[in-house]
Amino acid sequence: MPGDGWPLRIAAAGSLARVTAIGECMVEMAPRDGGGYALGFAGDTFNTAWYLQRLAGERLEIGYLSAVGQDDISDRMLAFMRAAGIRTADVARIEGRSVGLYLVSLRDGERTFSYWRDSSAARLLAHDLGPLQGRGAGDLVYLSGISLAILPPEDRPRLRAAVAEARAAGALVAFDPNIRPRLWESAESLRDETSAMAAGSDILLPSFDDEATIFGDADPEATCARYAALGAGLCVVKNGAGEIVAAAPDGAALRHPVTPVDRVVDTTAAGDSFNAGFLAGLAAGLSVRDSIAAGCRVSAKVVQGRGALVELPPGLVAAVG
Ligand code: ADP
Repeated sequence: MPGDGWPLRIAAAGSLARVTAIGECMVEMAPRDGGGYALGFAGDTFNTAWYLQRLAGERLEIGYLSAVGQDDISDRMLAFMRAAGIRTADVARIEGRSVGLYLVSLRDGERTFSYWRDSSAARLLAHDLGPLQGRGAGDLVYLSGISLAILPPEDRPRLRAAVAEARAAGALVAFDPNIRPRLWESAESLRDETSAMAAGSDILLPSFDDEATIFGDADPEATCARYAALGAGLCVVKNGAGEIVAAAPDGAALRHPVTPVDRVVDTTAAGDSFNAGFLAGLAAGLSVRDSIAAGCRVSAKVVQGRGALVELPPGLVAAVG
């Protein structure tokens, strides 16, 4: 891959061994066909860690950095993470707090979400950033705009600084702005924090509709150009069923169609699973183009299943990992 026009730091992804994803995992209550609710666990960066483990778990050690409570449901969440093969040593246990929860409602086939996360333990995840020091974070740090949005404002620069330190120590930084205006106290802090984190990232994985709404980008190329001007590295813009657009600051660029899907069942975690497929591709030493193709194949499968965490067929896993 070196020499194909993409940043050299990206070529180093082929030798990744250890990944740290940062953010919040929540309890999910999803309606069951026969009535009642099924209890699950999900959350954007956690979903990506879960898919990454499925796709590249043999090659990569994947850890989650977060915080949970000391109650029973927090124990169950940790057990779920471990059973999925995700390292939980960097999940802090905070007394007097618990995990966040969201409930899925179905109306006329459309899913809507209600959240209870205002006082979740994960909001305090930046209180102990020791695990990111030195080479503690491993070779790749993955976080999203939601990982930042949930923090008290004064903790965001601390998390950014800790990620920058990990990067200086050799880790690649991958960031999905995952813009959720409702989680931020103002549009201004959303824009400022997203831009500041993007400026310190090697790999950016935005979704075009969010970026257009908040930053006014005319097209995905404009999203890449805006982030490149800030100093960000490789930018890969998702756009629903539209083409993926990728560009690097030095001018390398490509477009890639998404994998066609007969029937979209549920787009939950489409972007999160794309990110996992893409990063798993890079970690397997694939080119940027082939890694995008991997992200498309994985997310096409995920939008045809229900819920955030969809089991992937072994053939797909083998093709990426
Ligand atoms: P997000 O979940 O972040 O909003 P997108 O909706 O842009 O992300 O979708 C992420 C990826 O999921 C797309 O780049 C594409 O690969 C896949 N995807 C989403 N919707 C479809 C679709 N209708 N058909 C095929 N692939 C899709």
